[in-house]
Amino acid sequence: MSVALPSGNNVIAGELRRAMHRSHALRSLGLALGSLMVGTVLFRHRAPVPVWVLLALYVLVWPHVAWLLACRSERPVATDRRFLVADAAMIGVWIAFMQFNLLPSVLLAVLFAMTLVAIGGGALLLRGTVVQVAACGIAAAFDGLSIDLATRLPELLAAIPLLVVFPMALSVIMHGLAQRVRQQNRVLREMSTIDGLSGLFNRRHWEDVVNALLTARHRPQAVMLLIDIDHFKRVNDQHGHTVGDDVVRMVGAMIRESLREGDLAGRYGGDEFCVVLRDAGPDAAEQVAERIRSRVACALVKGVTGLHCTLSIGVAQGRSDFRNAAEWVREADAALYRAKLSGRNRFVVAS
Ligand code: GH3
Ligand code: MG
Repeated sequence: MSVALPSGNNVIAGELRRAMHRSHALRSLGLALGSLMVGTVLFRHRAPVPVWVLLALYVLVWPHVAWLLACRSERPVATDRRFLVADAAMIGVWIAFMQFNLLPSVLLAVLFAMTLVAIGGGALLLRGTVVQVAACGIAAAFDGLSIDLATRLPELLAAIPLLVVFPMALSVIMHGLAQRVRQQNRVLREMSTIDGLSGLFNRRHWEDVVNALLTARHRPQAVMLLIDIDHFKRVNDQHGHTVGDDVVRMVGAMIRESLREGDLAGRYGGDEFCVVLRDAGPDAAEQVAERIRSRVACALVKGVTGLHCTLSIGVAQGRSDFRNAAEWVREADAALYRAKLSGRNRFVVAS
């Protein structure tokens, strides 16, 4: 249950790299498939050499230039979106140069609109569409406003790869992104509920779940153990904080291993841990307390020859008049205090 917390900067850099890579792949694929269809129409219209040069540069050079520029920019995502608007303009140009050939033009406009929505939502679609219509108008005027709507069979056939492959690629990418978001949400959920060192619930989450337990309509019989490491300051002082952290980790793991599914274990703070044993009576609670105490007392702390740690434990039975976790903890804390006073390395049950 312990959570490895990756550095924030590394995560952001990795995400940006992946986003730029996706954009590069999608642009390269879309332009390669689109050029097949556009080229077929241009061929029938006997397009002049400069138009072919422009198409070749756009398909073969532009995706890589856009990728390099976006990766090197201060704000790669914003830069890539600006390039998408430039793509919108180029698609308007190709629609005009294809003399508005109906199927290829609609296909280009619709697939690109889908891409804009997928990447930047309605705002990017609006920007892209305005720029596309303007670019299309200018290019059409430049091309002598020629219009030939009819789509011939070769152009229809040349449109099929774009029609089939591009939406598939887009949906694969969107599916991968949705999975990533789900996975990141799970990590965030864990980070917000789990203490990174002990692997147990953090205090806030532990209090939330115990409060929920106390206000449940059918409140189970439950017992609380408040556990504190004896002379922990001495461990830190004599062996350093890294060894102290190892002890917290070890105690967290041993508490976890001593419990049943459904018991609620948290790190209450520093060297203090809190456990609520659900559906447990006093006898069972004493057995668990003794199991945890003896396990830790027998264990050797990793990396330090002969270092043992002991625990003091306060045990408090749940009561119907406890209104929240804090009241219950107070009772367990009084028992823990008595365990400390009477010599440590023991559990004491609240009277
Ligand atoms: P007692 O037997 O009375 O509990 O004595 P103690 O030395 O354990 O006393 P106390 O509870 O006051 O000491 C807790 C120490 O735990 C103080 C603090 O520096 C240390 N500590 C708190 N959190 C951490 C942590 O995450 N890692 C390490 N290494 N030390 C911690
Ligand atoms: Mg202590």
